[in-house]
Amino acid sequence: MSTKWAIIIDTDMGSLPPCRSVDIFAHKYKIVIDELHRDELGRCDPTTQKIHIRNDLLPDTAKDTLLHEIIHAICFHAELPDPAPEESLVSRIATGLRIVLCQNPDLATWIFSR
Ligand SMILES: [Zn+2]
Repeated sequence: MSTKWAIIIDTDMGSLPPCRSVDIFAHKYKIVIDELHRDELGRCDPTTQKIHIRNDLLPDTAKDTLLHEIIHAICFHAELPDPAPEESLVSRIATGLRIVLCQNPDLATWIFSR
């Protein structure tokens, strides 16, 4: 555990997910709370199976960002064509998101908490 990680846990628990990894279509993605470029809130890297979340986000933005990056991973593993018709995109994302949240109930509770 790095010093930076410990400081974040002590000062802003609501900005951190309750787990360090998320199962996305049977692919274990590590959640990395990280320093990112100032223009970047998060990043999904399917090659290394890591989701990076910027370390200074407020709780609602952190949750939105994690969900956004999970959807990028879902699109990757669903081999979604780009650009996909909107109805197909929404349908696949909704189904994929439901599956991921059902498989990660602690994360779902955290994302939908207020
Ligand atoms: Zn994006």
